Amino acid sequence: MTDHETVPAEVEDEEEIPEDHPRYQDLLTRHRIEAGVEKGITHLQGMHAEGRGSAFDYLLGEETIPSAEAAERAAAARLLLADHPVLSINGNVAALVPGEMVDLAAAVDADLEVNLFNRTPERIDAIAEHLRDHGGTEIKGIDADARIPNLDHKRAKVDSDGIFEADVVVVPLEDGDRAEALEAMGKTEIVIDLNPLSRSPQVAEIPIVDNIIRAVPNVTEHARELEGASDSKLRAILEEFDRDAALEAAEERIRSGSL
Ligand code: ATP
Repeated sequence: MTDHETVPAEVEDEEEIPEDHPRYQDLLTRHRIEAGVEKGITHLQGMHAEGRGSAFDYLLGEETIPSAEAAERAAAARLLLADHPVLSINGNVAALVPGEMVDLAAAVDADLEVNLFNRTPERIDAIAEHLRDHGGTEIKGIDADARIPNLDHKRAKVDSDGIFEADVVVVPLEDGDRAEALEAMGKTEIVIDLNPLSRSPQVAEIPIVDNIIRAVPNVTEHARELEGASDSKLRAILEEFDRDAALEAAEERIRSGSL
């Protein structure tokens, strides 16, 4: 047994997790979700979602596979081409990558909108505050004065000048019903989800099968690098990206077990 395996199950601060631990990213992710639940920004069910994601990440080798890297570059190109991109934030996303989502929004000039499965005014306010603590300024989704058609009342709530009128929406760790309803509205969806078989990546124009803690900084890096690129260059990147092949590559990696 190495010293690393004695990392306490509960750490007060993520700094206590040794960066060279072989399961560092998993421990960090777990810690952030636990801290999110304690702060009232993540619902307890978010832990189940995280557990599912963690299993898929383990099988992917806890790394960004080449097809995910291509999807991340295509996502950056699509966001730069968008008229009104919106990044959707739920309790897990807020707990895991608050500052990273703020950075991505700045890099591609997108809105940030809080959009929750288990919506309560307290959680909405706590998430908005958490995003502001990480540099977010204008946070949408608080009044939520519009509805996504064909979804039950609470889960359908969005801002009329946010997700409702967006052309491109980044929906990380999204439940399948809402991803399908957004697709039916004609939105271009960029989905980040570690399960390639889940309905959300299946309906996405750009499915990113990667851990959100790796995916979001990667998309931002590509966006910064592509800033100022011509529309034709951005379109060429999109045309080169094959969503079906990317989903198949991720599934193959998970099923083959060749870690
Ligand atoms: P669906 O409703 O789409 O059929 P589901 O019920 O499994 O799927 P949810 O539990 O609503 O979906 O959403 C959680 C999804 O997020 C899961 O597919 C899980 O793999 C994924 N996920 C969890 N943690 C992460 C993470 N850190 N990075 C990327 N994806 C993650």
